[in-house]
Amino acid sequence: MSVKLNQIIQTIEALAPEKLAEDWDNVGLQVGSRQQSINRIMMTLDITTEVVTEAVIKKVDLIVAHHPFIFNGLKTLSTDWEKGQIIAQLIKNEVAVYVAHTNLDKAAKGLNHYLAEKMGLDNIKTLELSNPAIYYKLVVFTPVEASQKIIEVLGKNGAGAIGDYDYCTYRSSGTGTFRPLEGANPFIGAVNTLTCVSEDRIEAIVAAPDLKNLIATLKRNHPYEEMAYDVIALENGGLINENGLGKIGVFSHPMDAAEFIAYTKDRLGLTALRGAGKVPDIVRRVAICSGSGADMIGLAKAKRADVLITGDLKHHDGQRALENNIWVLDAGHYGTEKWVTDCFKQILEAGLGDACPEMIAAESSRDFIVNY
Ligand SMILES: [Zn+2]
Repeated sequence: MSVKLNQIIQTIEALAPEKLAEDWDNVGLQVGSRQQSINRIMMTLDITTEVVTEAVIKKVDLIVAHHPFIFNGLKTLSTDWEKGQIIAQLIKNEVAVYVAHTNLDKAAKGLNHYLAEKMGLDNIKTLELSNPAIYYKLVVFTPVEASQKIIEVLGKNGAGAIGDYDYCTYRSSGTGTFRPLEGANPFIGAVNTLTCVSEDRIEAIVAAPDLKNLIATLKRNHPYEEMAYDVIALENGGLINENGLGKIGVFSHPMDAAEFIAYTKDRLGLTALRGAGKVPDIVRRVAICSGSGADMIGLAKAKRADVLITGDLKHHDGQRALENNIWVLDAGHYGTEKWVTDCFKQILEAGLGDACPEMIAAESSRDFIVNY
């Protein structure tokens, strides 16, 4: 099945929008055109010479990677150095490159959610919420006969989107009063006459970026010359938003530390696992953060995790784990993030269904750190 690269990007960004990425990051389309037709996709953690060579041999049209290949400002495309050679090879063979990095780490149902599910955790919550969205309650008063139209305008323009539902509104009936003054051109009633009208009060939640356009669109569609409406700030943002780094969840069947080590190695396909800090008697609450999540030690402790699983643990992180009286397991940066290929696969299969092109995981992507 062949689809436009643009459709693949839209599918990934519906779950992991670019705006979620950290400021220092560089995500999105790095090589190629959104108009390219894609028949075969290769997913990888890193882009290396070996990975690109594999992509060319396997006639791949698109590489979807987690770590940005073009990261710091490129000063030259000279093929006298490796990066230039890789880019030349990509362009010559019409292989596009798309990157979802910290946006995928922080997406509510992104890489960390995938890992938490892989670890068999229940009641999965975000460890460190970020970018909490700002929401408003918009209340519009309308004559009853215009209610349906107003509800359609609200829903069509993003109001009332809650989780897997949209067009969520609430309507209550009452009586509106007004007196048109000199110069008014009322839809109902007459100048200088107090008018009573059967009206509906329609309310819906609206995300801040949608508010301004929505009000302008409502005014164009509302029958009254002066639309009456209220905008009320809500505190729901931090509650509705589940984007952020790391996840925390619980085991329905707690296990002891030795069992947990064996379980983690099995679930994450690891041959080695390093650890630091206070080893708990029983593991119930587990925090997990892909890549380098040692900064989460304090937060994991504050959220009463028995263990934090992450990668890139340094000597002083081990000391911090001891000081915080928490157990930290280092499953490796690669060990936690190699699963990104499965995560991308899940996202594209779910989003594109039967239209999904063939997907393969790069076999030449590997851990740069070797245990001897
Ligand atoms: Zn990483």
